[in-house]
Parts: sequence; structure tokens; C-alpha cells
Amino acid sequence: MSDVLLKDEHKMIQQTAREFAQKEVALYAAECDREAKFPKSGIQKCAELGFMGIAVPEQYGGSGLDYFSYVLVLEEIAAVCASTAVIVSVNNSLVCTPLKTFGNEWQKKTFLTPLARGEKLGCFCLSEPNAGSDAGNQQTIALKKGDEYILSGTKNFITNGPQADTAIVFAVTDKSNPKKRISAFIVDMHSQGVEVGKVEKKMGIKGSGCSQIIFNDVKVSKENLLGEEGEGFKVALHTLDGGRIGIGTQAVGIARGAFEAARNYAKERIQFGKPISEFQAIQWILADMATTIDAARLLVYRATELEDRGLRYTKEAAMAKLFASETAMKVTTNAIQVYGGYGYSKEYPVERFFRDAKITEIYEGTSEVQRMVIAGQILR
Ligand SMILES: Cc1cc2nc3c(=O)[nH]c(=O)nc-3n(C[C@H](O)[C@H](O)[C@H](O)COP(=O)(O)OP(=O)(O)OC[C@H]3O[C@@H](n4cnc5c(N)ncnc54)[C@H](O)[C@@H]3O)c2cc1C
Repeated sequence: MSDVLLKDEHKMIQQTAREFAQKEVALYAAECDREAKFPKSGIQKCAELGFMGIAVPEQYGGSGLDYFSYVLVLEEIAAVCASTAVIVSVNNSLVCTPLKTFGNEWQKKTFLTPLARGEKLGCFCLSEPNAGSDAGNQQTIALKKGDEYILSGTKNFITNGPQADTAIVFAVTDKSNPKKRISAFIVDMHSQGVEVGKVEKKMGIKGSGCSQIIFNDVKVSKENLLGEEGEGFKVALHTLDGGRIGIGTQAVGIARGAFEAARNYAKERIQFGKPISEFQAIQWILADMATTIDAARLLVYRATELEDRGLRYTKEAAMAKLFASETAMKVTTNAIQVYGGYGYSKEYPVERFFRDAKITEIYEGTSEVQRMVIAGQILR
């Protein structure tokens, strides 16, 4: 959809996010990648702008906007800094959304409100060393003892893990019941027994923290059970549908950032006495980039519209994430091609976009998992 088709309120939020991204995030994006440094000031500014809980009602500290607004904001940030985008995406999609959807009033007031205001940061602890694509194979245990659960186990690759204050954690509560064995918990990351394990050294999105989180007999009150006991997998799958819209958007943003850089470069770079943008080979690369990015964005918008209307969108979110992430990989690869040797250098941003794009094909379900989800839906 072209920007001119957006409603006025959406144009306004998009403009606010664009100015923030281009004037402030752009100043630190390369450094936060180079130094693998968490963009603290950028996230603080996101909190001030209301970007940490965009689709959360105002009564719970959010901006009270729709999911579409969230997608518009996220694309602007991702087009400049994919690290900042994933930190914002995890807080919004993977932490605020399940609290908003499955939390009771006390949980919303206590946990959702500071997260949506950006006073606290959230993380989502599903993956484990032996539960990646096979997320149902959870080994983390939550043993009930009186009014508490005792949580023990190790979570892998947790975005925001080193910085987070609050976690949504999935654990087995009933080993005997394969269908209702997993429950979701809200865990204070400063509780005794919570340990930040190995911090990953990553290929891309280097400014976002990512680590193992180890739960050493952590006491969690039964008040912190999110949803019903045994319904944790439902919470996880529902959350990941919304999360995939976020990652699809991140991919669209990364692709757009790389495309815009390549287009501008092509107009300036002179070879054989003229700008390389005058060669048809380069024009076709740029035309294909622009077309696939728009197609990816439209798939994201379709899933988002379904979310905003309260309809199911499992298939649409998987399609959006699959297509957008593969588009991001192709576009960033070709952006390097347009830059030639300079694209391979860290002097220019396309090499960072290329490294950042790859993760969008992996987290919140690999491309193979998205195809499994889509096939499951179309063959029902
Ligand atoms: C930087 C980063 C951040 C992350 N952030 C988070 C986070 O915040 N929270 C969280 O819970 N997790 C997070 N993850 C984990 C991520 O979601 C998993 O890495 C992902 O789901 C894949 O799991 P895996 O790495 O164990 O790969 P595996 O599941 O071992 O997959 C390996 C390969 O086998 C393929 N495969 C597996 N099963 C099948 C099958 N049935 N059919 C066909 N192919 C298959 C996969 O597609 C993949 O190509 C993050 C990961 C990374 C790298």
C-alpha cells in the first residue's frame, strides 16, 4: 500500500517514527552493530514516544493504538537499525501482547503497565537447547509446591535476556498429560535463582542482547501463572502469530533500508562515464527489489488487518513472515551487488543490512516451520 492510502492518524504515527529513526536512531545504528552495544538511549526514547506498548490500552500504560500503528513504527525503525527494531518488537509482540490477551486485571496492572510504559523491558523464554523448532519438547519444569511453583531449566537464545526485567516463561507443569503439559508464567528476572547464562556473539542484530537464561529453582507465585495451567502452548502459539507480524515487518524494514541505500548509490556511482543506474541490469535489480518489498509489506498489512479486526491470522502471519524474510535476504544480497566491492566493505550500511536480514528467516519459527504452518492450514 502506498503511503498516500494511509489514514491520517496512521500517517502521523509513521511520520513520528520516521523522524525519530532517521534523526536519532541513524546516529547510533552503525556503532551499536560494530560494538555489539545495547542501544539504551534509543530504547529510552522509544519509551518516551510510547513505542514500547503501542497496541496496549492507555489504562495499562500503552499508547492505545492499533496493531497497524505498531507495524508502521517498527518498519521505520528497522529500516535504520534492525537491533533496535527487534528489542521493540519483542517487548510489544512477545511480552505485552500475551499479557494483554491472557493476563488478569492484577497481572495487567502489575506487569503490563511498566512494560508498556517502557519503564521495564520484557523477554520471551520459549526456546531451549532441545526445543527450538520443536517448541513443544519443553524440558523446563515448574513443580507446584503450595502457593508457588519451583521453576528449573535452561532457555536458549533469549532476545533481551541480559537486559530484561520481566519474562514470559514456558515450563512443563504436568508430565503425564501430553496435551496440557505446558504452562506460561510471568517471572521477575531479578528473582533469586534467575541467571543470565552465555551471551551469544551474533552475526547480525548485534545491538540486541541475546543469551541463555537459567532458572535455578526459582520460586514463582501461583498468581503469576499466565492463563490457565496447561494452556501455555496455546499462549505461545497465539503470541507467535502476532510476533511473526513483527518479524515480517522487521524484514520489510531491513529490505527497504538496503534498497534505498542501493538506489541512491546507483544514481551516484559513475562507471563507463555514466551513473550505474542508467544500466538496464542495475535498473532491473532495483525494480525487482521495489516490487518484492511492496508485496512483502502488503502480506504484512493483510495479517495486521486481521489482527486488528480480531480475526484468526495464523496462515497469513506465517506467509507474511516467510515471504518478507526471504525478500529481505534477496534484497540485501542484491544491494551488495549494486554497490560492487564497496558493498562488501563495512564502510557502507548494506553489509550490516545483509547480516541483519538472515535472522528473520530463523527466529519466531524458521522458514521451514512457516511452510509447515502454511501447509497445515491449507491442507486442513
Ligand atoms: C538471535 C536469536 C534470537 C532469538 N530470540 C529468541 C527469543 O527471544 N525467545 C525464544 O524463545 N527463542 C529465541 N530464538 C530461538 C529461535 O526461535 C530458534 O533458534 C528457532 O526457532 C530455531 O530453533 P533451533 O535453533 O533449535 O533450530 P532447529 O529446530 O534445530 O532447526 C535446525 C534446522 O532444521 C530445520 N527443521 C527443524 N525441524 C524441522 C521439520 N520438522 N521439518 C523441516 N525442517 C525442520 C529448521 O528449519 C532448521 O533449518 C532466537 C534465536 C536467535 C538465533
